[in-house]
Amino acid sequence: MSALKGSGMRIVDVRATTVTVPLEAPLRHSNGAHWGRFVRTIVEVETADGLVGLGEMGGGGQSAEAAVAALKPYLLGHDPARTEALRFMLANPTASLYNNRTQLVAAIEFACLDLLGKHTGLPVHALLGGAVRDEVEFASYLFFRYPSADGTGEVRTPDQLVAEAARLKAEHGFRVHKLKGGVFDPGHELESYRALAHSLPGDRFRYDPNGILSVEEAIRFAHAIEDLDNDYAEDFCYGLNGMRRLRENTRIPLATNTVVVNFEQLAANVLQPAVDVVLLDTTFWGGIRPCVRAAGVAETFQLGVAVHSSGELGIQLASMLHLGAVVPNLAFAADAHYHHLRDDVIVGGKMAYRDGRIAVPDAPGLGVELDRTKLAEYAELYRELGPYPYDRDPGRPDWYPLLPSTQFADPRATGRPAALAGEPY
Ligand SMILES: [Mg+2]
Repeated sequence: MSALKGSGMRIVDVRATTVTVPLEAPLRHSNGAHWGRFVRTIVEVETADGLVGLGEMGGGGQSAEAAVAALKPYLLGHDPARTEALRFMLANPTASLYNNRTQLVAAIEFACLDLLGKHTGLPVHALLGGAVRDEVEFASYLFFRYPSADGTGEVRTPDQLVAEAARLKAEHGFRVHKLKGGVFDPGHELESYRALAHSLPGDRFRYDPNGILSVEEAIRFAHAIEDLDNDYAEDFCYGLNGMRRLRENTRIPLATNTVVVNFEQLAANVLQPAVDVVLLDTTFWGGIRPCVRAAGVAETFQLGVAVHSSGELGIQLASMLHLGAVVPNLAFAADAHYHHLRDDVIVGGKMAYRDGRIAVPDAPGLGVELDRTKLAEYAELYRELGPYPYDRDPGRPDWYPLLPSTQFADPRATGRPAALAGEPY
């Protein structure tokens, strides 16, 4: 432990609250779906002087709340300004083979940076080297969707996808559009993606089937879209070697958020390139600071970077905005699921897009505050509804995907699956 001067703050409590927040409609993906809502766990780290730092992580319930509570013996008495020490206290690389705490460390890191910012009166971006932009551009994140409980919101056909993109563009100003695929057969998804691109001339596009295509199918799909304004081909097939074979067979730059998610993989990709653009996720990488470091490596080796979304409420979104604010080599729009949410747990409600961009928070710390009424409301909703299986498709209860997959959902199947009967959204 360093004897050097710290902040003087001392952690005295750590709390976790799991919430579920409604989505406009269930979002489909290659492994299943978000069943009409997100389940997230909000983490609060309190110091002796009464400051509260905020963190957030995906999933939740008793296991997440217990996992956060189990960190208390490590964190009580710790100075949140010693953020780098957390990596080794909680997730030493070899000890983590046994405890897999990276996502917990990320939530605690957000909270510690929030505390340090509140303590010093500085926004997190100022603690990370300083903002080089004051707003971050986002892509419209388009999903195939089941209808919501009120029957609205279905996205299944190319026409429905085009209409949904037009609606989101009109509402939020997006100029970049990402289609999450891997749901229907590649022929249907190719027709949908091409219809999307033709409907919005001048905009840019990206397609992400979550690695589910065979390498040969991925090459075929890439050839069929090379005439469009593609940002990149994101995880068309799985694995560094699969992506490397695809890269040898297409002119489209490749991106991943699945197979370069730590520094070992980043080094492997530098030594033997498989992707051109690394999507940085503040949770997967263990915090905002590791993402900034990874962006620095990418800058050195002239790889592209973008900001990944693993599903977020306002606290996680703030982590993405501060990351986007300080990375000079961010040449792509960020991803966010955020606009699919009906509500948020932060004071003031959902942050707003303007011209496809969200302003970087500038108040001390992460710059967002918990709305205690909303937190209680959505914690109660979680207790009522419980979790949902993210990797199960409510429309195909007996199905699970192989990798590569050849069994896709039927694009002719309309309506809301029976398995969603207990879900209110
Ligand atoms: Mg992806």
